[in-house]
Amino acid sequence: ASEFLDDPGLLRDEAYVNGKWVKAKGGKTYEVTDPATHVVIAKVPSMGAADTRGAIEAAAAAWEGWKQKTPKQRGDVLRRWYDLIQHHTMDLAKILTLENGKPLAESRGEVGYGASFVEFYAEEAKRAYGEVIPSPIPGRRLVTIKQPVGVAALVTPWNFPIAMITRKAAPALAAGCPVVIKPAEDTPLSALALAELAERAGVPPGILNVLTCPREHAAEVGLELSTSLNVRKLSFTGSTKVGKILMRDSASTVKKLSLELGGNAPLIVFDDADIENAINGVLAAKFRNAGQTCVSPNRLLVQSRIYDEFVSTLAEKVANLQVGHGLQPGVQIGPLINPGGLEKVQRHVHDAVKKGAQVVTGGDLHALGGTFFEPTVLGDCRPDMLVFTEETFGPVCSVFKFQAEAEAIEMANATPFGLAAYVFAGDVGKGWRVAEAIEAGMVGVNEGMISTAVAPFGGVKESGVGREGAKVGIDEYLETKYLCLGSF
Ligand code: ADP
Repeated sequence: ASEFLDDPGLLRDEAYVNGKWVKAKGGKTYEVTDPATHVVIAKVPSMGAADTRGAIEAAAAAWEGWKQKTPKQRGDVLRRWYDLIQHHTMDLAKILTLENGKPLAESRGEVGYGASFVEFYAEEAKRAYGEVIPSPIPGRRLVTIKQPVGVAALVTPWNFPIAMITRKAAPALAAGCPVVIKPAEDTPLSALALAELAERAGVPPGILNVLTCPREHAAEVGLELSTSLNVRKLSFTGSTKVGKILMRDSASTVKKLSLELGGNAPLIVFDDADIENAINGVLAAKFRNAGQTCVSPNRLLVQSRIYDEFVSTLAEKVANLQVGHGLQPGVQIGPLINPGGLEKVQRHVHDAVKKGAQVVTGGDLHALGGTFFEPTVLGDCRPDMLVFTEETFGPVCSVFKFQAEAEAIEMANATPFGLAAYVFAGDVGKGWRVAEAIEAGMVGVNEGMISTAVAPFGGVKESGVGREGAKVGIDEYLETKYLCLGSF
């Protein structure tokens, strides 16, 4: 695959530990495949618990030197990393599309989005301010300082193989924490390319480590990371199921945790909304990465008066989406990541149809075969269907009808999840009121694309704890220490 690249040096097939490109102990590898063609792109090390221990030890040993650098020195390294990521956008995007399947234009977008976290935290490194607190007792001075928490373990998913790493690694490095990254098994090559660029940017040995491992090793690597005393912070993005395992195991060492877990985003369209804007919002938010995005609207709740018009206009647009290999020009929807992802989408559609949903467009495997699925609109969906209770994570719009505002809020909140939500309304007061009432960490009002490095990303309820991005994102890697100075 390296012949596609301007800089073939970005395609690495070894793991990166303590500043060296290494194989797994025992030499085992596993295959990384193109989800659109099933062609093997690379073989990467099959690392396990012993490799993980080695990486944690390297990170712990390197910590002191990184911590002692000034924030500006750390920021300068991050700035160089940012410049290199930007400079190599096209190559990074190609690697991303090859292993993840998303259209090349989206991959370029993700590289830019991923890079923006590195840029932002290169700047924020300098702003880890403490406070001087007026003392209630004479003769004392009260001060807080912020210090890096220590080695951070970063476990990331395949749907945003670059951005989910930079969103964690950039604030960690800015704060003064070394990182041990375990990328998703499907998408290790983007992580290794980022490590190559981090090395070129001058990130010292041991400060950024990448462990590649197949699904069969994820549990042992996860256990090592969550039970190691040397790891003081664990940041995870992925399923609620795995998040709960990591949270439970991290209890053994009382780790600081950030968890970005599953969502089940509602998107409410009121009958006074600008329908064209609402449909554009749905298309932008729903079909990115073929719907495999944790902030994708999973349940479209549409008010009864505009329901028919909304569904038919949406279906027309959805039927026109171009499906194909992500490297082909004009393609808007790639394959699903793997057979498991496809199976879930099929199961959800079958369940909905069996319980009375109408297939307005799509609804089946795509003629391209493999893990391609037709962009789909299901009408007349009801809350007893899987498309209401679980995240479908595919190119399927499930549309539900509601009558009144209170009913929409109740439906929106009838889930253990609370990541993103969207409201489209002509009356801004109603939009605001409903946004306040929805149990979610993020709400788009008349807007479907809400993610940005400068705003806090995260969920409530079983969608997780902590926030990434923004000013608060660096606090996840800092401890506040209180100093009380007496004898004045
Ligand atoms: P998805 O269903 O989107 O693949 P997962 O939560 O299964 O989400 O995967 C997200 C990340 O968690 C991946 O890097 C995966 O390898 C990792 N993972 C899966 N199982 C475990 C586990 N038991 N411990 C630690 N990490 C795990």
